[in-house]
Amino acid sequence: MGIIEENRRLEELDKQYIWHPFTQMKEWLEEKPIIIFEGKDCFIKDIYGRWYLDGVSSLWVNIHGHRKKEIDDAIKKQLDKIAHSTLLGLSNVPAIKLAEKLVQIVQKSLPPHLPFTGNPPTPPLEKGGMGGLCKVFYSDNGSTAVEVALKMAFQYWRHKGVDGKNKFVSLNNAYHGDTMGAVSVGGIDIFHKAFTPLLFKTYKAPSPYCYRCELGKEYPECKFACLDKMEGIFNAHSGKIAALIIEPLIQAAGGMITSPPGYLKGVRELCTKYNILMIADEVATGFGRTGKMFACEHESAAPDIMCLSKGITGGYMPLAVTIATDDIYNAFLGEFKDLKTFFHGHSYTGNPLACAASLACLDLFEKEEVLKSLKKKIEILDTWLKEVLNLKYVGDVRNIGLMAGVELVRNKKTKKPYDWSEKMGWRVAYRARENGVFIRPLGNVIVIMPPLSISDQNLRQLLKVIKDSIVKVTES
Ligand SMILES: *Cc1c(COP(=O)(O)O)cnc(C)c1O
Repeated sequence: MGIIEENRRLEELDKQYIWHPFTQMKEWLEEKPIIIFEGKDCFIKDIYGRWYLDGVSSLWVNIHGHRKKEIDDAIKKQLDKIAHSTLLGLSNVPAIKLAEKLVQIVQKSLPPHLPFTGNPPTPPLEKGGMGGLCKVFYSDNGSTAVEVALKMAFQYWRHKGVDGKNKFVSLNNAYHGDTMGAVSVGGIDIFHKAFTPLLFKTYKAPSPYCYRCELGKEYPECKFACLDKMEGIFNAHSGKIAALIIEPLIQAAGGMITSPPGYLKGVRELCTKYNILMIADEVATGFGRTGKMFACEHESAAPDIMCLSKGITGGYMPLAVTIATDDIYNAFLGEFKDLKTFFHGHSYTGNPLACAASLACLDLFEKEEVLKSLKKKIEILDTWLKEVLNLKYVGDVRNIGLMAGVELVRNKKTKKPYDWSEKMGWRVAYRARENGVFIRPLGNVIVIMPPLSISDQNLRQLLKVIKDSIVKVTES
């Protein structure tokens, strides 16, 4: 079979057999799919040999580029030992080493003297305890990391002998994954509303979406009215609230919605004041995306539970962790018969190949001084965003570090959005694709989230293509 026929066959087989996520398959069937065959650095190549700049890090996971030698080698090396064994009743070498490494990194970013866990803010350490986030529970994707966090928080209060703290506070526009618990704490109508009858109810706090403030206020004159709303919920129901869950600094899937400075710190203070656990979902923001290792670090707002996934293996393999404080972990200690065990686990929990990839990924942060190298790139992005804000149909630009969103609007003055059905974001993405850049929008928001390793030159190229695409699509 010639190469062309083989490619045609792959296209047909894809349409015959694959049901793609978050994809209207009727449309997909009418399009020519891009089938990726190979990758290198921040580029991906399709079966016809066309290269694309990977402008969204293969859906927000890639950190050091594709086919990074150190990570490739680490996986190959681990493969010569063992690919998988269980963490249920056994342990494995890479999972142990990675847990230690993660705790070291997290403790450096969010040291234990910061307020953790309720009233009083920093609990007296039990013997052998470290304080801060120090117990690593493995799972295999962001959604499961969130499920674990919710179940931990719920059961923590039970084990503490506190009754009635059964509810969660989540934010409008939040996204925490697609499993039922994660959807229950989600707040994006287009994704989540269809499942309402299946979900548990949560208290919904306002989204810190300053460009379209739900409370009709303007920052900073608002004096954080959204936090006052949150406090209202806490004040009325704290006896029923187990935890608050939040995407720190930026509600990513909700449209790259950045919170104003001081907001996250305010959330931490409220959680402490009302004795509510704070769960930080750093699945998207973790591992350098925001310019610091973790988003919470920007405001020294240490959560009681932290969820990490996406970048954890540098975008190589599915892996996630939920990291909890000593205090939470200790609440689950008891005699076998007490049934205080945390009854949760997945088949691939702590997968050795994934953990080996993650260790190599984390070593690269040190070896290549990744966080330092981001400064210049963030400046380039900041400058570009300011320029783009002058375009006729760009309403708002938002970023924290190398996570950015450009919100397109039909009318800049009234902020009237393009109708969902106009697919404005998609039209820009298709245009960019024709010019060798792969991006995936969120409604009217163009998402820019390249691998952290992107060169200054490639970043400029990416931004140029995106800007040209926005201009071409919106102004003609
Ligand atoms: C992507 C994401 C998730 C879900 O992760 P999956 O690996 O896709 O299940 C959860 N929370 C946030 C903030 C995310 O961006």
